[in-house]
Amino acid sequence: MRPIGVHTSIKNSLINSINEAVELKCNTFQIFLHSPQVWQIPEFEQEIIDEFKSLRELHALNPLIVHASYLINLISSNPKTIASSRYLLKREVLMADLLGADYYVIHLKDNKDMDKNEIFAKTREGFSKIGKLEKCKILIENTAKSKITSKIPDLIETFNNINNENLGGICIDTCHLFAAGYDISSDDGISKFIEESNKYGFDLIKLIHLNDSKTSAGSEIDRHEHIGKGHIGIKGFENFLNIKELSNVPLILETPKKSLQDDLKNLSTVREILKKLES
Ligand SMILES: [Zn+2]
Ligand SMILES: [Zn+2]
Repeated sequence: MRPIGVHTSIKNSLINSINEAVELKCNTFQIFLHSPQVWQIPEFEQEIIDEFKSLRELHALNPLIVHASYLINLISSNPKTIASSRYLLKREVLMADLLGADYYVIHLKDNKDMDKNEIFAKTREGFSKIGKLEKCKILIENTAKSKITSKIPDLIETFNNINNENLGGICIDTCHLFAAGYDISSDDGISKFIEESNKYGFDLIKLIHLNDSKTSAGSEIDRHEHIGKGHIGIKGFENFLNIKELSNVPLILETPKKSLQDDLKNLSTVREILKKLES
């Protein structure tokens, strides 16, 4: 069965993220390792790590995805920020690897005062500090507005230029894709996405973040909405989930969440769409 899950919370304990995933009947899940808006990253005790790994195995939650924190900026014009970012990136990916994560997903920063080559060189340098990971692969996520990661050809060019041994592919977020100008609710928009992905390689897409969009196509603004309730709409998700080249790629929802009920609702909408497409 296709892996479907949500971003779950490690609030109070790492184990909570697994409990949430199990309660929601997910077979995959995504977590942050710490609050994504702060530089501090705690150490987990070995006992907790062991428990986390055995519970994950027991419930067959695959893949496990770790999402990078938002502060990491490998191309900042402030050398101190670069140093802290390299340190945090390394700490996070090593921790993800230690937890047995399959993927670590990161948004790369853009800088309007730098050309692509300078951005690539600085980003590559930041990645080169990581060292060889055991299992975890890093995925670069598409974003709503960026000269290096919002259009598919740019995203692939970035992937190729970073060229790091730990890099495993890309993650496509449907909300970001839509905001970047790929109107997947229309036939033209979905064809454009398929055509470009075909040209550069569908096989690079290892993960999908399935989110609807509060803003219109091409708005370049990243605001997630409940599945089917935003501008992408049910029709857009039917189009997107019907792409046969992506039919086995894991789906992670990052839709608005006040309680687990919200996740349940969104998951059931996605499952209904998939069921309809199968029949
Ligand atoms: Zn993301
Ligand atoms: Zn987003």
